[in-house]
Amino acid sequence: MSALGPKLRRLEGGRVAFWCPACHRAHALTMRSATGDGWGFDDNEDVPTFTPSVLTSYNGSDAGQNGAPPAICHLYATRGRLLYLADSTHALAGQTVDMPDWPGAT
Ligand SMILES: [Zn+2]
Repeated sequence: MSALGPKLRRLEGGRVAFWCPACHRAHALTMRSATGDGWGFDDNEDVPTFTPSVLTSYNGSDAGQNGAPPAICHLYATRGRLLYLADSTHALAGQTVDMPDWPGAT
């Protein structure tokens, strides 16, 4: 994992991760390849934009237990802002927040 500006980290396999303050975890995106799969990134490390939207579902400690549906995090990362869509199951659904700096970054 290597730093990519204050907010992003570059991972193995051509992935780029940002910190999601709603899920309290990183979301890692596979960068678009020559075949067109994956996410587009505008290469702006300070105010990143990724396209298209990011939809994550996972069995967190708060969801997916005892038959409950998995948690959903659905967002647009646009110009350094995280726009959470209303189908997200966490507390930031419908809200827009700044993409935080990577935790522990100086
Ligand atoms: Zn999230």
